[in-house]
Amino acid sequence: MSSKNYYETLGVQKNASQDEIKKAFRKLAHEHHPDKTGGDDKKFKEASEAYSVLSDEKKRQQYDTFGSADASGFGGGQGGGFGGFDFSGFSQGGNQEFDLGDIFGEFFGGGRGGGRRERTPRGSDISIDIELTFKESIFGVEKDIHLNTMSQCEHCKGTGGEPKSEIVTCGKCHGDGTIRETKNSIFGAFATQKTCPDCNGLGKIPKEKCKVCHGHTVVRKEHSLKVKIPSGIENGEMVRLSGAGETAPHGTTGDLYIRAHVKPHKEIQKEGSNLVMKLPVRLTEALLGGERLIETLDGSLTLKIPAGVHFGEILRLKERGVPTDGRRRGDLLVHIEIELPKKISKSAAKLIEELKKEGM
Ligand SMILES: [Zn+2]
Ligand SMILES: [Zn+2]
Repeated sequence: MSSKNYYETLGVQKNASQDEIKKAFRKLAHEHHPDKTGGDDKKFKEASEAYSVLSDEKKRQQYDTFGSADASGFGGGQGGGFGGFDFSGFSQGGNQEFDLGDIFGEFFGGGRGGGRRERTPRGSDISIDIELTFKESIFGVEKDIHLNTMSQCEHCKGTGGEPKSEIVTCGKCHGDGTIRETKNSIFGAFATQKTCPDCNGLGKIPKEKCKVCHGHTVVRKEHSLKVKIPSGIENGEMVRLSGAGETAPHGTTGDLYIRAHVKPHKEIQKEGSNLVMKLPVRLTEALLGGERLIETLDGSLTLKIPAGVHFGEILRLKERGVPTDGRRRGDLLVHIEIELPKKISKSAAKLIEELKKEGM
């Protein structure tokens, strides 16, 4: 559960100007936009919510009045705070009788939560972690993912009724699709109209409930998915599979987020679209040049070391880096390190003395 400190969410001071708030939000929105690779839907929503309040001077003032220290009573369902009122009885999630979003909306002039009741319920998002080898992260890989989620009931195709069941008028709402009720809140009693839970607003229901899901439209199911992990994915980056999360009863399906944990390679690192590695060469190899077999992600490759290569010089193996699109790849950059011997034998010392005379 987020702390709902809108200033902290946006990372601005309490006395931040509208300009600063806008800037902070833009930066976060850019960073977390869910359509972006590595985007974070939750963070994006949090930032949007914070911005929607703080960018409106009136709402911001109201928010400030209640104190930002613990405004979690607003929809956060944590209770406490909010000028001493105890919200724990109305906590969101699980308690459908009392929707804080609506109170909040009314209180702040319908700015938030408006129309929430009309929306089809959306299933929760799921996030899972997968381990990737460094090579898999560079070239991309297809992974089998096993899930155990609430999914649409196959027997009734999500209708909640037995196939070919007779369709009858809903007994609860008598075909209206909505029911009225009076609610009590700290702001007084008020009448509300809500979607009939039995027919889900349709006014009609199948006479015979589905034998498999008992009319819930969803069942818990184990299933597996093939997921394509794109090439060049970074450690901690997320892949979103839209519509692969939990399915809500009579509702839609949330998303699946897959976070990649990339095991580092012993010798090779990724730098943008290039791969980099160090190659220690002997002094004589550096002076005279030669060929070396090096282990790359493409297997063993021969690297030509030019005579007179110097410490820190970068040798480039073209198109042996990270695939950037269908055809192109970055390069493999080999950083040369020259190993100087720690101990020199007498005979070697003599030879080096000769070199010295040569002016080297
Ligand atoms: Zn009904
Ligand atoms: Zn069913």
